[in-house]
Amino acid sequence: MDDFGEILDRELDRWQQAGKIAYFWLRDDDAIEPTTPLDRLLELSGTFSVPLTLAVIPARTGEALGDRLQREPLCSVAVHGWSHRNYANADEKKQELGRHRPAEDVLGELKQGFDLLSHLHGERFIPMLIPPWNRIDAALVPHLTGLGYRALSVYGPEKPSALPLVNTHVDVMDWHGTRGGRDPQALAVEIVARLRHMFAHGGAMGLLTHHLVHDAAVWDFMSALFEVTVRHPACRWTPVADLLQAPEIPV
Ligand SMILES: [Zn+2]
Repeated sequence: MDDFGEILDRELDRWQQAGKIAYFWLRDDDAIEPTTPLDRLLELSGTFSVPLTLAVIPARTGEALGDRLQREPLCSVAVHGWSHRNYANADEKKQELGRHRPAEDVLGELKQGFDLLSHLHGERFIPMLIPPWNRIDAALVPHLTGLGYRALSVYGPEKPSALPLVNTHVDVMDWHGTRGGRDPQALAVEIVARLRHMFAHGGAMGLLTHHLVHDAAVWDFMSALFEVTVRHPACRWTPVADLLQAPEIPV
C-alpha cells in the first residue's frame, strides 16, 4: 500500500503548504439492524475517530439499531429512501424514488421515513435524504423541504439543486466486476482527483461504503486510508452535520 499512501500524502502536503484543510466524510449505506459487519464498521470508525453517517432503510429497521447506536457518539443516521424497493422497468437503472409512482405516494413514504428515523434516533438523526441507488426524480426535490429534509446526498459531483447537496465521490465497491473491493491505487487516484477539484472549488470528499457486502479488500482499504489520512494535519474527517452548517465549505 506504499504507493497508495504516497499518492494521498503528496496531495495533502500541497494542502498543508497552502494552509488549507481537506474535509472528508464517510457515508455507509443500507443499514437495517445490528450485524457483525456493522460492529466491524463501528469499531473501525471508533479506532480512527472517523465520524460516520449510516444510510438507514426506514421500512426495514427498528429499535434494535437505535439501541445499538446509543453507545456510538461518532455515528449519525440519515434516511435511505423508504423500503429500497426497485420500481424501475427491467431496461432502466434501478430506482425507488423515480416517476414510476404518483409523487404523493413517494413523498408520503419519505415523510414516514423521516418521522420514523427521527423518532428512533433522536440526536443522531440528520435531516438528510440518501436516495437508494443515488437516484431521485428531480421533480420531487423541491418538495423535500416541506417534509423536513435539509439536505440530499447522492453520488458524483454536486450539481445545482433545490436542496443543499452533500454528495459522495468515491465508491469503494466494484459493483460491475468482482462485486468486491476496488484496487486501492485506483481509489487513491480518484480521491486525489476529488481533492484537486476541492482545492479550487471547495466542497468535501465523500467516501461511500456498504458494510454488509465488504470483502477483506474493502476493510483493508478503509484501515489503510484512515491510517494515512487521520495523521495528516491537512485532512479532517468531519460529521456530516458540520458540513451542512459550515458556510466556508461550499457544497
Ligand atoms: Zn442502498
